[in-house]
Amino acid sequence: TKKKFKAEPVSHESDRSKLSVEELRKRSRHVYLKSRKEKKIDELEQELADEDYLFKGVKLTKREEEDIKLKRIALNLAREHDQAQQMENVDRYHMPTGKSDETSKNDRYREDNRYSDAKANGQSGQNFEQRKWEDEVIHTALPHFGSLDKDAKSKQPKYDYILDEEIQFVQQLTIPGVNEFLQQKEKSKLHEHEDENKRKYRTLLESRKTLPIYKFREDLMSAIRDHQVLIIEGETGSGKTTQLTQYLFEEGYCEADTEDEDEVEDGDDDDNIKLPDGKKKTKKKMMIGCTQPRRVAAMSVAARVAEEMNVKLGREVGYSIRFEDCSSERTIIKYMTDGMLLREFLGEPDLASYSVLIVDEAHERTLHTDILFGLVKDIARFRPKLKLLISSATLDAEKFSQFFDDAPIFRIPGRRFPVDIYYTKAPEADYVDAAVVTVLQIHVTQPLGDILVFLTGQEEIELANEMLLERTRKLGTKIKELIILPIYSTLPSDMQIRIFEPAPPGGRKVILATNIAETSLTIDGIHFVIDPGFCKQKTYNARNGMEALTITPISKASANQRAGRAGRVAPGKCFRLYTSWAYQHELDDNSIPEIQRTNLGNVVLLLKSLGINDLVNFDYMDPPPMETLRLAFEQLYALGALNHKVELTKLGRRMAEFPLDPMLSKTILASETYKCSAEILTIVSMLSVNNSIFFRPKDKTLLADTARQAFFVPGGDHITLLNVYNQWKDTNFSTQWCYENFIQFRSMNRARQVRDQLETLMERVEIEILSNPADTIGIRKSICAGFFYHTAKFSKNGMYKTIRHQQSVLIHPNSALFDQIPRYVIYFELVLTTKEYMRQVIEIENEWLRETAPHFYKTKK
Ligand code: ADP
Ligand code: MG
Repeated sequence: TKKKFKAEPVSHESDRSKLSVEELRKRSRHVYLKSRKEKKIDELEQELADEDYLFKGVKLTKREEEDIKLKRIALNLAREHDQAQQMENVDRYHMPTGKSDETSKNDRYREDNRYSDAKANGQSGQNFEQRKWEDEVIHTALPHFGSLDKDAKSKQPKYDYILDEEIQFVQQLTIPGVNEFLQQKEKSKLHEHEDENKRKYRTLLESRKTLPIYKFREDLMSAIRDHQVLIIEGETGSGKTTQLTQYLFEEGYCEADTEDEDEVEDGDDDDNIKLPDGKKKTKKKMMIGCTQPRRVAAMSVAARVAEEMNVKLGREVGYSIRFEDCSSERTIIKYMTDGMLLREFLGEPDLASYSVLIVDEAHERTLHTDILFGLVKDIARFRPKLKLLISSATLDAEKFSQFFDDAPIFRIPGRRFPVDIYYTKAPEADYVDAAVVTVLQIHVTQPLGDILVFLTGQEEIELANEMLLERTRKLGTKIKELIILPIYSTLPSDMQIRIFEPAPPGGRKVILATNIAETSLTIDGIHFVIDPGFCKQKTYNARNGMEALTITPISKASANQRAGRAGRVAPGKCFRLYTSWAYQHELDDNSIPEIQRTNLGNVVLLLKSLGINDLVNFDYMDPPPMETLRLAFEQLYALGALNHKVELTKLGRRMAEFPLDPMLSKTILASETYKCSAEILTIVSMLSVNNSIFFRPKDKTLLADTARQAFFVPGGDHITLLNVYNQWKDTNFSTQWCYENFIQFRSMNRARQVRDQLETLMERVEIEILSNPADTIGIRKSICAGFFYHTAKFSKNGMYKTIRHQQSVLIHPNSALFDQIPRYVIYFELVLTTKEYMRQVIEIENEWLRETAPHFYKTKK
């Protein structure tokens, strides 16, 4: 029945004169619709000319007159669009014209869907065909009305017809801008807070029931009852992450475990334990834990589930990510990064507070997830009541099943519409630019529906954002409203939430995302995906211990996941900014698990402190390269965390308390010796928000650079960062001060938050917070004790040479030491741009090395 509204094209080759006027009348609207959709200017022109000729002398009905009038408007708009396209050179790619069978079918399907609710409401076919047509017309007219000028409609009498006939369209036509739209929402929230809350809960409940997983709830729950370990596989967006935890909670998995006697203090038989002050405390409930590889996902999903359960985030539903614990005593559903669950083993080796552990996004195969596999498999053996769920989006299920002793696999059938895939004809040199161009191209040629663009990181996203803003501004009201929304891991959470808000009516949103949107976050309403084919990946050179984040081609599996994002709510299109040949020949089938391409220092330290001594024979799903393990041992030995028998030392045990790279943990512990822990905490916190402290707007680079240089102090960049923080602290953490000094307030705030967290950890290792800001030698020696591997010496050829690998490097031009050339320096990190640069550098004395790193320098020289 959907075919009913199919636009019947009248071929231009057919002899129009043979058609009766009636026939022509009947069909002209369809011809019009079709041609308008395709924006074929010359066809439309021809058509109008034909009709002029054919209808000459025939008395037209009002409707026909209007048809023709609107067709002319459409023609003008199409011409304008055409101009805009030429102006912006947006026609660089092969863009689907809707001509191919597949595509046009999809387009129609989407169109039909939009009207199916009208149908459901019992409107006659005639009626909503009419509505469909009118909507089409209005969409055509949108660019003119898209302006925020409220008087626009009175200034443009040519639309009188629409206004007269269908008043409801008048309202539709005054499309509020984004801000107005948001304000309206805010207002309604304020006014009817209570009702709004209830209503929201109800609608959320309804939408939960439409998720693919809902139908399998009973089967799933009984499978979990029957098996201790279950692998759950389902398409992204099927509801695994947000629903599983809630189902388990509803099934009673959070009830206190009454049979485990040792759970109850003093063996008290009563369900309630009497506290000394006479208050009663109920027995601690069990938790359901769910791990996520990414912090943004953990936060966003927890927020969503709290909303769905109508509780306050941080209470019953909470999350825990590094440096931020948003959970409480009451928390029963806890989302966390895989790294955080790993750390929980330190305090609670059998994870006794959890009744269920869900290792989610298992297919991502992050280092921490891989290590978790081995650990949870182990505790499941001696905690028979613990339930273990491994959930994954792609087809790795068999592999997971094998690893977990042939655990059964539960497949949730997916819901995915067809996605058309388009490749570029030739390789694109600049994929950010190409992505921007493609966004605009889609925006002007394709029906409404949101766009998702995959970029590799914050810098690229900001760049693309800027370019899009600039170009859409130039096009002005010629195009429909385009809302640009970035999403990446360090984006403040209030901004993160915005990606889930629907686009304003008649407008389109484009989401610029990192890999986070590949499987971790599901954003509804995406019809178009733009995939440049790259992501940022950690690589590790075990030969020289160099770790780097590099932009790498994605795998075929990733490319297909990305494309799938376009087909969640309707048939979609995916534009790959690479050639079909490149897809076939240049992309690997699967990504390499992180454990095989990263530094293992941190994880080795953690496992050692969990008492796992034989790391070579640990139960890995895929083992790390031997060379990488050996290098980790070597580094931890040099830092003093392991002894010559590769056993954990007391220092190593204390270092493991910090969720930091071992070099940073060592720096903190060394500050005890030099009585400057307060300063070192600040420096470590500032380094953890690295490179986003100083703000350098394009139009004020000179001012910003001067402001930055004003903070420079002798000793180097770490001391400069300390200076920035302390000055900010003196202003009582003022926003204004940041603004005036070209400092990013958000980053500073984050550093402050990190610092607070680290300070609480200092109690656990029993280090007093001592301040000694004037003693920059003590501060630098502490850094030296952690970062002696990163020493470079000035050499005769005017470059620096790293002591360990004799690699030629330079001081980064941003550094306070850039034009000073000290003999010995220690750097925080190396960045490869045009040259290999050392970033965050301090000056040190040669003698300090032997003093602070005896293990290393004794053996080396
Ligand atoms: P899966 O884990 O299977 O990929 P999810 O449970 O993450 O699926 O998502 C299920 C649904 O919940 C999706 O339709 C998604 O749009 C919605 N959803 C998830 N998080 C949010 C959020 N923060 N805001 C709005 N909707 C969300
Ligand atoms: Mg998920």
